[in-house]
Amino acid sequence: MRAMDTANVDPAELAKFSALAHRWWDLEGEFAPLHQINPLRLDWIDSISPLNGQRVLDVGCGGGILAESMARKGADVLGIDLADKSLKVAQLHALEAQLPGLTYRQIAAEALAEEMPGQFDTVTCMEMLEHVPDPASIVNACATLVRPGGWVFFSTINRNPKSFLLAIVGAEYLLNLVPRGTHEYARLLRPSELGRFCRAAGLDLQTSRGLEYNPITRRFRLSTDTSVNYMIAARKPLATTD
Ligand code: SAH
Repeated sequence: MRAMDTANVDPAELAKFSALAHRWWDLEGEFAPLHQINPLRLDWIDSISPLNGQRVLDVGCGGGILAESMARKGADVLGIDLADKSLKVAQLHALEAQLPGLTYRQIAAEALAEEMPGQFDTVTCMEMLEHVPDPASIVNACATLVRPGGWVFFSTINRNPKSFLLAIVGAEYLLNLVPRGTHEYARLLRPSELGRFCRAAGLDLQTSRGLEYNPITRRFRLSTDTSVNYMIAARKPLATTD
């Protein structure tokens, strides 16, 4: 497929997700942590950029966990990913859920940015940047896709000794929260790095949240501690007239 040859994509990463595609909607399966954090991130996004009636793009949507929940909030959602199997699962699930305002496409963010610049009120890109060779290019594409005054949300994992211990050793090897090999340390992104990519793409950083996991209660909660899992909200400035 041409898009994959030229896009900013690591085929091994896509293969990991494709191999598990049938598990996207298994609440107790490999993607359980995404199901657990979904209400938290959904409400956070909705509180900053109320989703009802918006045109929303979800980049790296996987099986559609976030995309579908945003459509339920009344948004018109387009989900994009390059993993064919995941998109098929997302499409089937959307059909079952009978959500007309939810569509999926297999296209790279950079290619969609050429086709639909400025056409989305909100762009979300969650748990995806740490799986691509050139995350800055995805941030740029998201900045192009959102309209002036619109919001872009990213989530990823910080890179430091604590996040290595908790997000890789802890989550993959001790607690079996996610499959081994899901995350590669060198690809994790510090908030300062993600912030730099945003500013370079013309986005203004507005706020951030940590997603903290408590291994005793086995629950996530939002916090101000961005040392492991975190989300950031950025805004594209309204066009200035000169
Ligand atoms: N955003 C979803 C899924 C996160 S898993 C959620 O948070 O629920 C990471 C996703 O990124 C997978 O679906 C994988 O197929 C996708 N992905 C990885 N590299 C990609 C790329 N270069 N372009 C688009 N999607 C990619």
